[in-house]
Amino acid sequence: MRQKIVAGNWKMHKNAEETEDLLNELIDKIPTDLDQRVIVAPTFVNLSAAADHLEFTPIEVAAQNMHQAEGGAFTGEISAGMLESVGVRIVILGHSERRAYFHETDALLAAKVDTALKHEMEVIFCFGEELKDRHAGQHFNVVENQLKDGLFHLEASAWKNIILAYEPVWAIGTGETASPEQAQEMHEFIRDIIRKNYGNTVAEDVSILYGGSVKPENAAEIFSKPDVDGGLIGGAALKSDDFTKIVLAI
Ligand code: PEP
Repeated sequence: MRQKIVAGNWKMHKNAEETEDLLNELIDKIPTDLDQRVIVAPTFVNLSAAADHLEFTPIEVAAQNMHQAEGGAFTGEISAGMLESVGVRIVILGHSERRAYFHETDALLAAKVDTALKHEMEVIFCFGEELKDRHAGQHFNVVENQLKDGLFHLEASAWKNIILAYEPVWAIGTGETASPEQAQEMHEFIRDIIRKNYGNTVAEDVSILYGGSVKPENAAEIFSKPDVDGGLIGGAALKSDDFTKIVLAI
Protein backbone atom coordinates (compact mmCIF):
# COMPACT_ATOMS: atom_id res chain seq x y z
CA MET A 1 0.00 0.00 0.00
CA ARG A 2 1.21 3.48 -0.83
CA GLN A 3 2.70 5.19 2.22
CA LYS A 4 3.69 8.73 3.14
CA ILE A 5 7.37 8.76 4.03
CA VAL A 6 9.94 11.34 5.07
CA ALA A 7 13.51 10.05 5.11
CA GLY A 8 16.61 11.94 6.22
CA ASN A 9 19.93 11.18 4.56
CA TRP A 10 22.62 12.33 6.96
CA LYS A 11 25.44 11.66 4.46
CA MET A 12 28.94 11.98 6.00
CA HIS A 13 27.78 14.18 8.87
CA LYS A 14 27.51 13.70 12.63
CA ASN A 15 29.99 11.82 14.82
CA ALA A 16 28.82 9.39 17.50
CA GLU A 17 27.93 12.04 20.07
CA GLU A 18 26.24 14.30 17.53
CA THR A 19 24.27 11.34 16.21
CA GLU A 20 22.97 10.55 19.67
CA ASP A 21 22.09 14.22 20.27
CA LEU A 22 20.19 14.55 17.00
CA LEU A 23 18.34 11.29 17.60
CA ASN A 24 17.32 12.43 21.08
CA GLU A 25 16.04 15.72 19.68
CA LEU A 26 14.03 13.91 17.00
CA ILE A 27 12.59 11.48 19.53
CA ASP A 28 11.48 14.46 21.63
CA LYS A 29 10.06 16.52 18.79
CA ILE A 30 8.43 14.06 16.40
CA PRO A 31 4.99 12.96 17.60
CA THR A 32 4.59 9.22 18.08
CA ASP A 33 1.12 8.93 16.56
CA LEU A 34 1.86 9.90 12.96
CA ASP A 35 0.60 8.00 9.94
CA GLN A 36 3.65 8.92 7.88
CA ARG A 37 6.80 6.89 8.22
CA VAL A 38 9.91 8.68 9.44
CA ILE A 39 13.31 7.23 8.51
CA VAL A 40 16.83 8.46 9.27
CA ALA A 41 20.06 7.29 7.68
CA PRO A 42 23.13 8.02 9.82
CA THR A 43 26.64 6.97 8.79
CA PHE A 44 27.67 3.30 8.92
CA VAL A 45 29.80 3.75 12.01
CA ASN A 46 26.82 5.02 14.01
CA LEU A 47 24.14 2.74 12.56
CA SER A 48 24.23 0.05 15.20
CA ALA A 49 23.94 2.56 18.04
CA ALA A 50 21.20 4.42 16.17
CA ALA A 51 19.22 1.23 15.59
CA ASP A 52 19.44 0.42 19.32
CA HIS A 53 18.51 3.95 20.28
CA LEU A 54 15.45 4.01 18.02
CA GLU A 55 14.27 0.47 18.78
CA PHE A 56 11.18 1.42 20.80
CA THR A 57 10.37 4.58 18.86
CA PRO A 58 8.43 5.01 15.60
CA ILE A 59 11.53 6.42 13.87
CA GLU A 60 13.14 3.88 11.55
CA VAL A 61 16.77 3.59 10.60
CA ALA A 62 18.30 3.09 7.16
CA ALA A 63 21.77 2.59 5.73
CA GLN A 64 23.07 4.95 3.07
CA ASN A 65 24.58 2.19 0.94
CA MET A 66 25.65 -1.47 0.98
CA HIS A 67 27.71 -3.87 -1.10
CA GLN A 68 26.08 -6.34 -3.44
CA ALA A 69 28.11 -9.36 -2.30
CA GLU A 70 27.15 -11.47 0.69
CA GLY A 71 30.67 -11.10 2.08
CA GLY A 72 34.31 -11.55 1.16
CA ALA A 73 37.44 -9.60 0.37
CA PHE A 74 35.92 -6.17 -0.24
CA THR A 75 37.88 -3.85 2.01
CA GLY A 76 35.83 -1.03 3.44
CA GLU A 77 32.48 -2.41 2.39
CA ILE A 78 29.36 -3.47 4.33
CA SER A 79 27.03 -6.37 3.45
CA ALA A 80 23.26 -6.73 3.73
CA GLY A 81 23.73 -9.43 6.36
CA MET A 82 25.81 -7.05 8.49
CA LEU A 83 23.10 -4.41 8.30
CA GLU A 84 20.49 -6.97 9.24
CA SER A 85 22.60 -8.12 12.18
CA VAL A 86 22.40 -4.65 13.75
CA GLY A 87 18.68 -4.23 13.10
CA VAL A 88 18.80 -2.21 9.88
CA ARG A 89 16.09 -3.28 7.42
CA ILE A 90 16.13 -0.34 4.98
CA VAL A 91 18.89 0.77 2.60
CA ILE A 92 19.25 3.80 0.33
CA LEU A 93 20.70 2.76 -3.03
CA GLY A 94 21.68 4.79 -6.08
CA HIS A 95 22.05 8.18 -4.47
CA SER A 96 23.44 10.61 -7.04
CA GLU A 97 26.55 11.10 -4.93
CA ARG A 98 27.18 7.33 -5.07
CA ARG A 99 26.59 7.40 -8.82
CA ALA A 100 28.81 10.45 -9.43
CA TYR A 101 31.70 10.05 -6.97
CA PHE A 102 31.82 6.26 -6.64
CA HIS A 103 30.88 5.43 -10.22
CA GLU A 104 27.89 3.29 -9.32
CA THR A 105 26.18 2.21 -12.53
CA ASP A 106 22.62 1.07 -13.11
CA ALA A 107 23.89 -2.50 -13.55
CA LEU A 108 25.72 -2.41 -10.23
CA LEU A 109 22.66 -0.92 -8.56
CA ALA A 110 20.47 -3.67 -10.00
CA ALA A 111 22.78 -6.20 -8.30
CA LYS A 112 22.64 -4.30 -5.01
CA VAL A 113 18.84 -4.15 -5.20
CA ASP A 114 18.70 -7.92 -5.76
CA THR A 115 20.89 -8.58 -2.73
CA ALA A 116 18.88 -6.23 -0.50
CA LEU A 117 15.61 -7.84 -1.59
CA LYS A 118 17.03 -11.32 -1.02
CA HIS A 119 17.49 -10.19 2.57
CA GLU A 120 13.93 -8.85 2.56
CA MET A 121 15.18 -5.35 3.16
CA GLU A 122 13.37 -2.29 1.85
CA VAL A 123 15.21 -0.26 -0.75
CA ILE A 124 14.96 3.50 -1.18
CA PHE A 125 16.05 3.65 -4.82
CA CYS A 126 17.34 7.08 -5.90
CA PHE A 127 17.54 8.33 -9.45
CA GLY A 128 17.20 11.61 -11.33
CA GLU A 129 18.53 13.59 -14.22
CA GLU A 130 21.39 16.08 -14.34
CA LEU A 131 20.88 19.69 -15.39
CA LYS A 132 22.35 19.05 -18.84
CA ASP A 133 19.74 16.32 -19.40
CA ARG A 134 16.91 18.67 -18.47
CA HIS A 135 18.32 21.42 -20.69
CA ALA A 136 18.51 18.94 -23.56
CA GLY A 137 14.90 17.84 -22.95
CA GLN A 138 16.18 14.36 -22.06
CA HIS A 139 15.04 14.20 -18.43
CA PHE A 140 12.17 11.77 -19.03
CA ASN A 141 14.40 9.44 -21.06
CA VAL A 142 17.17 9.50 -18.46
CA VAL A 143 14.77 8.71 -15.63
CA GLU A 144 13.06 5.95 -17.61
CA ASN A 145 16.42 4.32 -18.40
CA GLN A 146 17.59 4.51 -14.77
CA LEU A 147 14.40 2.77 -13.67
CA LYS A 148 14.50 0.22 -16.48
CA ASP A 149 18.13 -0.71 -15.91
CA GLY A 150 18.03 -0.60 -12.12
CA LEU A 151 14.63 -2.04 -11.27
CA PHE A 152 12.57 -3.34 -14.17
CA HIS A 153 14.15 -6.80 -14.00
CA LEU A 154 12.21 -7.32 -10.75
CA GLU A 155 9.07 -9.41 -10.48
CA ALA A 156 5.94 -7.42 -9.64
CA SER A 157 5.84 -9.02 -6.18
CA ALA A 158 9.25 -7.53 -5.32
CA TRP A 159 7.95 -3.99 -5.61
CA LYS A 160 6.35 -4.08 -2.18
CA ASN A 161 9.88 -3.52 -0.83
CA ILE A 162 10.77 -0.68 -3.20
CA ILE A 163 10.46 3.01 -2.34
CA LEU A 164 11.38 5.38 -5.17
CA ALA A 165 13.18 8.67 -4.61
CA TYR A 166 13.21 11.01 -7.60
CA GLU A 167 16.08 13.40 -6.99
CA PRO A 168 16.99 15.73 -9.84
CA VAL A 169 20.75 16.08 -9.44
CA TRP A 170 20.61 19.82 -10.09
CA ALA A 171 18.43 20.28 -7.02
CA ILE A 172 20.51 18.30 -4.52
CA GLY A 173 22.33 20.46 -2.01
CA THR A 174 22.12 23.43 -4.37
CA GLY A 175 19.27 25.31 -2.76
CA GLU A 176 17.48 25.02 -6.09
CA THR A 177 14.28 23.00 -5.81
CA ALA A 178 12.23 21.52 -8.60
CA SER A 179 8.96 23.43 -8.62
CA PRO A 180 6.01 21.47 -7.22
CA GLU A 181 4.73 21.28 -10.82
CA GLN A 182 8.03 19.88 -12.12
CA ALA A 183 8.06 17.32 -9.32
CA GLN A 184 4.44 16.30 -9.98
CA GLU A 185 5.04 16.08 -13.74
CA MET A 186 7.97 13.71 -13.24
CA HIS A 187 6.30 11.66 -10.51
CA GLU A 188 3.24 11.17 -12.71
CA PHE A 189 5.50 10.08 -15.56
CA ILE A 190 7.27 7.62 -13.25
CA ARG A 191 3.98 6.13 -12.06
CA ASP A 192 2.82 5.84 -15.67
CA ILE A 193 5.86 3.87 -16.81
CA ILE A 194 5.54 1.59 -13.80
CA ARG A 195 1.88 1.10 -14.72
CA LYS A 196 2.87 0.20 -18.30
CA ASN A 197 5.41 -2.35 -17.08
CA TYR A 198 3.72 -3.78 -14.00
CA GLY A 199 0.06 -2.77 -14.08
CA ASN A 200 -2.08 -0.49 -11.99
CA THR A 201 -1.71 -2.10 -8.57
CA VAL A 202 2.08 -1.84 -8.44
CA ALA A 203 1.96 1.71 -9.86
CA GLU A 204 -0.61 2.90 -7.35
CA ASP A 205 1.04 1.16 -4.39
CA VAL A 206 4.60 2.38 -4.83
CA SER A 207 5.65 5.42 -2.80
CA ILE A 208 7.53 8.03 -4.82
CA LEU A 209 9.53 10.51 -2.73
CA TYR A 210 10.93 13.78 -4.00
CA GLY A 211 14.43 14.86 -3.00
CA GLY A 212 16.33 18.05 -3.71
CA SER A 213 16.57 21.04 -1.37
CA VAL A 214 13.33 20.30 0.47
CA LYS A 215 13.01 22.71 3.40
CA PRO A 216 10.33 23.62 5.93
CA GLU A 217 9.35 26.54 3.66
CA ASN A 218 8.67 24.49 0.52
CA ALA A 219 7.80 21.03 1.87
CA ALA A 220 4.03 21.42 2.23
CA GLU A 221 3.53 22.63 -1.33
CA ILE A 222 5.68 19.85 -2.81
CA PHE A 223 4.00 17.19 -0.65
CA SER A 224 0.55 18.45 -1.64
CA LYS A 225 1.01 17.12 -5.17
CA PRO A 226 -0.95 13.93 -5.80
CA ASP A 227 1.97 11.76 -6.97
CA VAL A 228 4.47 13.01 -4.37
CA ASP A 229 4.35 10.66 -1.40
CA GLY A 230 7.00 12.31 0.73
CA GLY A 231 10.61 13.36 0.63
CA LEU A 232 14.21 12.31 0.89
CA ILE A 233 15.88 15.11 2.78
CA GLY A 234 19.59 15.95 2.91
CA GLY A 235 20.73 19.23 4.49
CA ALA A 236 17.50 19.95 6.33
CA ALA A 237 17.59 16.49 7.94
CA LEU A 238 20.56 17.57 10.05
CA LYS A 239 18.56 20.07 12.10
CA SER A 240 15.87 18.58 14.29
CA ASP A 241 13.56 21.59 14.05
CA ASP A 242 13.70 21.68 10.26
CA PHE A 243 13.33 17.93 9.85
CA THR A 244 10.40 17.83 12.26
CA LYS A 245 8.67 20.66 10.39
CA ILE A 246 9.15 18.75 7.11
CA VAL A 247 7.79 15.55 8.66
CA LEU A 248 4.73 17.46 9.86
CA ALA A 249 4.26 19.19 6.48
CA ILE A 250 3.06 16.02 4.83
C1 PEP B 1 19.85 14.29 -0.88
O1 PEP B 1 21.06 14.28 -0.76
O2 PEP B 1 19.24 13.22 -1.04
C2 PEP B 1 19.17 15.57 -0.83
C3 PEP B 1 17.93 15.63 -1.24
O3 PEP B 1 19.91 16.63 -0.34
P1 PEP B 1 19.36 18.12 -0.07
O4 PEP B 1 18.04 17.99 0.62
O5 PEP B 1 20.41 18.75 0.78
O6 PEP B 1 19.24 18.76 -1.41
